[in-house]
Amino acid sequence: MLNKLIYLLNFEWLTHVSIGLAKSVFLVLFVLIGVLVLFIPSDYIYEGIEKRRWWHNFLSAPPRDLPTGIRRAEVSLSAPLDSYRLTARYDLLAADAGERLVIVDWKTHRPKDPQRLLEKLQSVVYPYVLVEAGAAFNGGRPVRPEQVAMAYWFADLPDNPLRLDYDATQHAADHDRLMALVREIETYYAEGVGTWPLTDFSHNCKFCTYRSLCDRGSAAGDLDDLDEELEIEELPDIDLEQVAEIVFQ
Ligand code: SF4
Repeated sequence: MLNKLIYLLNFEWLTHVSIGLAKSVFLVLFVLIGVLVLFIPSDYIYEGIEKRRWWHNFLSAPPRDLPTGIRRAEVSLSAPLDSYRLTARYDLLAADAGERLVIVDWKTHRPKDPQRLLEKLQSVVYPYVLVEAGAAFNGGRPVRPEQVAMAYWFADLPDNPLRLDYDATQHAADHDRLMALVREIETYYAEGVGTWPLTDFSHNCKFCTYRSLCDRGSAAGDLDDLDEELEIEELPDIDLEQVAEIVFQ
């Protein structure tokens, strides 16, 4: 019996049939599977899947008080920072040109200490880049920091988002913080050490896209887990070649 099953799974039987017959067999199997799937009750399929609850939460309590003029999901902006390029990829940008621009970031879980989100680099980079490169969302005019706000929306607690307001003072402070990071990296390179040291916090590596290069795993971790572990800095997975809108001012 097992031998027969292996024989079928290995498709060796196909060597004895014509291509036309093989195509017909697969077409019939394909249709048969599709029909069978239609008969599976959707409640059975969704039972126990957490994401269904998240979707219901989104339908019942979506991010509120958002501008309605422009709404763009999964949009990237890029702005110069010194002689480098800083990129942010937003879950959602909502804007009323000349008025408000709101960044919405989707998180699956509300962290135990939400304030820590505000200290993350994401809370620095996202509003900073929008001010520097968001003119297209502001009727072609430069964005004033006071126009910008950011909201973290939590799929497990949709009624309790976290809001970050922005102003010129914060923007200047964020610029200084980012430049300090740039200088730190430049200094490291100038010392000619050559190879970047691996972090001592190897726990962080399980979320890292590049961990196979460091011999600390073979596949990137689940970013959903990262939401739950705010002790760890977020490692955005940004492909610079995929940045659709690059706006330099
Ligand atoms: S796996 Fe990623 S986080 Fe860990 S040391 Fe390497 S680059 Fe750094």
